Amino acid sequence: MLRNNRGWFVKGHKSYNYWLGKKRSSETKKKISLVLKGRSLSEETKNKMRGRIPWNKNKKGTFKHSLKWHLEASKRTRGKNHWNWQGGISLINDRHDSQKYKEWRIAVYKKDNFTCQICGRRKVRGVEITLNADHIQPWSIYPELRFKVSNGRTLCVECHKQTPTYGNKPKVVQEVMSYDQAA
Ligand SMILES: [Zn+2]
Repeated sequence: MLRNNRGWFVKGHKSYNYWLGKKRSSETKKKISLVLKGRSLSEETKNKMRGRIPWNKNKKGTFKHSLKWHLEASKRTRGKNHWNWQGGISLINDRHDSQKYKEWRIAVYKKDNFTCQICGRRKVRGVEITLNADHIQPWSIYPELRFKVSNGRTLCVECHKQTPTYGNKPKVVQEVMSYDQAA
C-alpha cells in the first residue's frame, strides 16, 4: 500500500508486490511514464541520490556524535541518571561474594545446626549435601532483612530449588508484589 506524506494509506493503490509478475496495459504504462517525466528534482536532491552529498549534511549533531560526546553521554546516564537505576542495589547484588553475606550465611547454618529445615537432612561427615542459606522474606523485597539471621533458614540445595524465591526469579517477585497490592 502506498502512504501519503502523513503516513495514511492512499486509497486505490495496489501494493508494490501486487504488480510483481503482472503486466500493465500499455495505456497504464504511458500514464505512469508521463507522471514520472513531470517530476523535476532539484540538483541538490539529484546529487544526494547519486551519493555526492552525504544525506545528513547540514544536520550536524543530530546523527553523528563525536567520541567525546559519547563519553559525556555515558557519564550523563550513569548512576542516578540511568533509567534502570535501582538506588544502588547493584553494588550489593554481588551478595555471594560479600563478607557480610558470608558471615550471615554461617550464622544461619549454626542457628539451624547445619540441618535442612525442609527435609531434615544434616551436613555431617560422609553425607554429601550442599546447604544454602535461604531468605525467608525475599532478598529483593525486604532489603532491611537481608542480613538478619532470623530471616534466614538452612536448606539443602534440592529443597531450596523448590522454593518460589530460588535464585530471585523476577517473575516470582512480580507475583508476590501483585499479591501484596491486591491484598
Ligand atoms: Zn532439604
